[in-house]
Amino acid sequence: MEAVRFDLSPSEIPETWYNMAADLDYVAPALSPATGEPVTRDDMLRTMPEALVDQELSREPEFEIPGEVRQFYAQWRPTPLIRARNLEKALDTPARIYFKYEGVGPTGSFKPNSAIPQAYYNKRAGKSGLIAETGAGQWGSAISFAASLFGMAAKVFMVRVSFQQKPHHRSLMQMFGASCTPSPSTETEAGRAVLDENPDFPGSLSVAKSEALQVAFADPRWGYTRGSALNHVCAHQTVIGQEAIVQMERAGDYPDIVVACAGGGSNLAGLAFPFLRARLHGGPDVRLIAAEPAACPSLTQGRIAYDYSDTAGLTSLTRTHTLGHRFVPPPVHAGGLRAHNIAPLVSRVVEEGLMEAVALRQRDCFEAGVLFTRTEGIVPAPESTHAIRAAVDEALRAREEGVTRTILFGLSGHGNFDLSAYERYLGGTLADDSIDPQALEIGRNSIPVLAGAAS
Ligand SMILES: *Cc1c(COP(=O)(O)O)cnc(C)c1O
Repeated sequence: MEAVRFDLSPSEIPETWYNMAADLDYVAPALSPATGEPVTRDDMLRTMPEALVDQELSREPEFEIPGEVRQFYAQWRPTPLIRARNLEKALDTPARIYFKYEGVGPTGSFKPNSAIPQAYYNKRAGKSGLIAETGAGQWGSAISFAASLFGMAAKVFMVRVSFQQKPHHRSLMQMFGASCTPSPSTETEAGRAVLDENPDFPGSLSVAKSEALQVAFADPRWGYTRGSALNHVCAHQTVIGQEAIVQMERAGDYPDIVVACAGGGSNLAGLAFPFLRARLHGGPDVRLIAAEPAACPSLTQGRIAYDYSDTAGLTSLTRTHTLGHRFVPPPVHAGGLRAHNIAPLVSRVVEEGLMEAVALRQRDCFEAGVLFTRTEGIVPAPESTHAIRAAVDEALRAREEGVTRTILFGLSGHGNFDLSAYERYLGGTLADDSIDPQALEIGRNSIPVLAGAAS
């Protein structure tokens, strides 16, 4: 019998997080929205515990994972690395396809990898509650779970369209004891301003972020948390790729291609950066691919510029691929990928030509997701289907070219809570994504013009 599953023992959970910033020549400083000058440590300390500020600004290659955090990780880590033999057969491809499965975590995705350390550091900094915005609900669930582990309160602003479409995540947050508010809400100035302009606004991650930030600024007992994009979040997620490297060794193989879906960029960073680190330090060559939705194509159609991460312009400005902070993507099911910009570290890696990006359409992704379910028995999260689609496309290319290739993709979460979206796909009523050119233009025009700072 041929092994298809490559497990590690709890003692093999990584002891450090990897910081990609250490291996890049240039990391642009974030700029303060008030002054346009680089954000100072003191600015950052207003919304972040000191330990996370240190990680955010660090150029050191590794941060030690606190023992308590590793102990919580051990509840579900190391996660499995599985060879998708049945999918390979269905595609009749000479390629070997592996996936790193993060859906075994308590909330069904990779997000607790960063939610737990963020809860840990906020608790140590004296916070009694955690606050967050959430798109599809995955970050909200992860933060609610982490808060409950540390005996903290949790308050989540959830993008309205997801709040309505994804009642299961809402319920999961409530199971963990959190409160969940649809955004835009009347609870904050940012929410009220948006509702005044358009009472039917479906919500967006960046409006929800403005709301969460306003609550956190108003009451210092709340610790504001970040689900993606920031340097320290990308670092926390590197447990994924570090484990995968050891598991690929156990499999006696090594990927030619590593692919993951890209929203804010954290699961992609988590899987890909450790492989990139190895390559930059003389290890094997590997192609890295970011798979993003055609509905929100920040890497393939965005500009590299300084921009805010929220609609109201409360966050610092970061230099990254952006569609503009006023860009509102269509309400596709891969809600976790609807971010107008992406992690600056991922953006920089793409800019330097160390990673490629592809934009994929919703229905093509669901098609790959259904094939994956029928061959491997796991319903993937709609976000994850982008990675599957890209991996399938590469496997089909290998077949056409008649070459063997090893492909590793990140299965960022399961889609057991997203069956209604699959039902619509199977029933033929799932719309394909199309971007309104006007939305792109509104977004583009909202990218701030900064004297001397641009690109
Ligand atoms: C949040 C989420 C994503 C997208 O977030 P990134 O920061 O881009 O990784 C992808 N897949 C799942 C299952 C998610 O929950």
